[in-house]
Amino acid sequence: MSPVRRRRLRRLAALAGGFATVALLWWVWHWQFDNALREAQRHADTRLALYTSSLEGALERFAYLPDLLARQPLIRSALGRQPQDTLNAAMIRRINAHLARVAASSGAEAIYMMNARGLTVAASNAAREDSFIGQRYDYRPYFRQAMRGGQGEFFAVGSTTGRPGYFVSAPVTAGDVSVSVTAGETASRGASAAPPLGVVAVKVSLESLQADWRQAGEKVMLSDANGVVILSSRADWRYRYMGGLDAEALGEIRAQRQFNGTELRALGERLGDGSLLIDGNGVGKRFFTVTADSTAGGLGWRMHYLVPVRPLYARARNAVLVAGALCLALLLLGLWLRERQQRLWLREREARLMRDANERLESRVEARTRELESAQAELVQSGKLAALGTMAAGIAHELNQPLAGIRTYAASGARLLERGRPESAQDNFQRIQALSERLATLIRQLKLFARKGGAREPIDLLARLDFVLELLDERIVRQGVELELPESVQPVWVAGDSVRIEQLLTNLLRNALDALREVAAPRLSVDVALSDTRVVLTVADNGSGIDEALIGQLFDPFFTTKEVGDGLGLGLFIAYGIVQDLAGRIRAENRTGAQSGAVFIVELPRAFETRRRQPSEEDSVT
Ligand code: ADP
Repeated sequence: MSPVRRRRLRRLAALAGGFATVALLWWVWHWQFDNALREAQRHADTRLALYTSSLEGALERFAYLPDLLARQPLIRSALGRQPQDTLNAAMIRRINAHLARVAASSGAEAIYMMNARGLTVAASNAAREDSFIGQRYDYRPYFRQAMRGGQGEFFAVGSTTGRPGYFVSAPVTAGDVSVSVTAGETASRGASAAPPLGVVAVKVSLESLQADWRQAGEKVMLSDANGVVILSSRADWRYRYMGGLDAEALGEIRAQRQFNGTELRALGERLGDGSLLIDGNGVGKRFFTVTADSTAGGLGWRMHYLVPVRPLYARARNAVLVAGALCLALLLLGLWLRERQQRLWLREREARLMRDANERLESRVEARTRELESAQAELVQSGKLAALGTMAAGIAHELNQPLAGIRTYAASGARLLERGRPESAQDNFQRIQALSERLATLIRQLKLFARKGGAREPIDLLARLDFVLELLDERIVRQGVELELPESVQPVWVAGDSVRIEQLLTNLLRNALDALREVAAPRLSVDVALSDTRVVLTVADNGSGIDEALIGQLFDPFFTTKEVGDGLGLGLFIAYGIVQDLAGRIRAENRTGAQSGAVFIVELPRAFETRRRQPSEEDSVT
């Protein structure tokens, strides 16, 4: 897949993910909100049932009281007197006292008796200043209903006291005619009977009920058939209407002085979602209303429980926040996993690249090594050829001179013999012998050099040294060389064979004696030191030392600084070969300090066996 396409796909996936998240959060909001609302509604239903039953219970207690009072002979006889003016003060006092007693024991706010014109003639509150006595209530529906022969019920603000209350009334008839159960029934029966003499009414205060609601901290309202709130847990919602209030209903309310002239206002407005917005704006002023019909008195009352919208929103918002946080956490987790995956992938790629690079490097190193090996083999080959050339040239040169001499001496010797001078010819023969001797020495050296390998057995280095010194004794004495030798009398064992060890010692000591030829107080010191695995032999003289520039070439074949015929330049070369053969090391230095001269240091592997082979006569170096 091309990178552009991959990028586009990734962008599409991100967009789809964003949409899905928004949709999910939207769903979570609604789901949580609906859940919370359902729960609140269930709670509201329970509370409403409780409040409704307590209201109905409070009203039902008084439903039969007016009727019972209306049947009492005292009331009947008082209202039945004709003309009414004959009602004397004593009788009124009796009735007032009776009504006050009943009111006190039943819990009614007031009980009062009106004549057929609606004029209050006796009341439980006769003693109070705001007594109902003398007031006319013929405009009140409960009076009219009772005068029609039925039971009257009404909620109104008292026109005398200004206190709201529930009014229930019953007609007072001359005989036992109106045995009423319901208002409708009584009305129909009452219509056929004689008109009532008056009306007994009971006013019940519902303020305590309202105080209970307020105390519970809930928003509860009771509205009448017109939708006007007559009781409310909040005082400022009282006497306000829900929904519309038509002119006819308003006229009726005014005529009945139901709310004692209080101005009625609408209670908030219904919003699209069914919630009620009360006094202002914002979610804090919004409520869902749960409503239940109240059967109290058949007045068309309704109880309302208000569910505040804010906690529902808060719950939905919290759920959205949690869901959002979860989405974010998931997103972060996803990003982290992706990052980790990419890191792993990069690391693997790096490792793979590294491996490849290593493999390539290794194969290059191998190829280069092969090339170097073949180049080295070529070099070795050409080095061998060069050494062979040098050696051949040296040998040819060394052989040529004595041979030319022999040829010349032989020819001149022959001529001397022809001329009859044998004495002179003898001298020539002696020279020829000396030159042959020289050739023999050269060939012996070469033979020794050619004799590679040999045994490796423990050889006492000190014994070989004694032997070689004995051979050179005549020269040492002649040159007057002072010897310094190792003090040890214990054998010092090295691994090798005696012929080569003696050859090595001979070459080193001869060179030292050569260097001491012209020295005034010649001294030659030989020392032997031991380590765990090695024996270090030092041969030092107090000659003129070695030219520093030539130290590197000392061990080359045919390198010599001596006169022609004096040195062959093979001594150190042979010594070097012997030391190499015996797995040792040899080096040359000049002495430091006050003493001049050369030092040759030879390291040889140490041997620990005490057996030693006595050198045979023909093995010995001469
Ligand atoms: P040759 O003795 O035949 O010259 P060598 O290989 O034995 O051959 O020695 C090579 C050279 O090393 C000598 O010519 C000499 O210059 C130098 N050399 C060897 N030993 C000593 C020494 N003890 N002191 C000074 N020079 C030395």
